[in-house]
Amino acid sequence: MGGREEEEGGEEYLFKIVLIGESAVGKSNLLSRFARNEFDNNSKATIGVEFQTQVVEIDGKEIKAQIWDTAGQERFRAVTSAYYRGAVGALIVYDITRRSSFDSIKRWLDELSTHCDTAVARMVVGNKCDLENIRDVSVEEGKSLAEEEDLFFMETSALESTNVQTAFEVVIREIYNNVCRKAL
Ligand code: GDP
Ligand code: MG
Repeated sequence: MGGREEEEGGEEYLFKIVLIGESAVGKSNLLSRFARNEFDNNSKATIGVEFQTQVVEIDGKEIKAQIWDTAGQERFRAVTSAYYRGAVGALIVYDITRRSSFDSIKRWLDELSTHCDTAVARMVVGNKCDLENIRDVSVEEGKSLAEEEDLFFMETSALESTNVQTAFEVVIREIYNNVCRKAL
């Protein structure tokens, strides 16, 4: 599902992007901020909805980003291969106020690479940057992890809407560039 299909009058782009990371880091809120500009204080697992499709424009082309959110199964480290199947982008999220969620990023990257090939556009996202006063992971640590692993990195706040749009758009643009390179 990283495809480009010829339609009459143009191409269609549909990119599957997955959200992964420990429970309660803010994955669902990043998605609702991006897709609906909403924030929800109740941390309830998404019920019934597997993904949301958001249309973005890049280079004058309409791109459908199909963004997948977990329904709480990450709590049991039981994200299925169906969740990852066909993904061409991933946001691997931790909570800057909870070090254990940062420490597990490598495990999530491993899991991602067992299910998807290496061409997946990946960004490490340090969420909840509005909570500076109780920060537990420095910006530098986030950056250097991302550099080590050759990933994009950004700190976000789903609450204050900081960098959320940008984070998704950087990943979408990278996927778009990958598809274009492949087509050459
Ligand atoms: P998920 O389990 O990773 O999907 O996390 P949720 O999106 O359900 O969020 C877990 C909790 O963190 C909820 O109580 C949210 O209100 C809170 N939360 C999510 N994003 C932010 C953020 O950017 N800043 C703050 N302060 N809280 C957040
Ligand atoms: Mg969730």
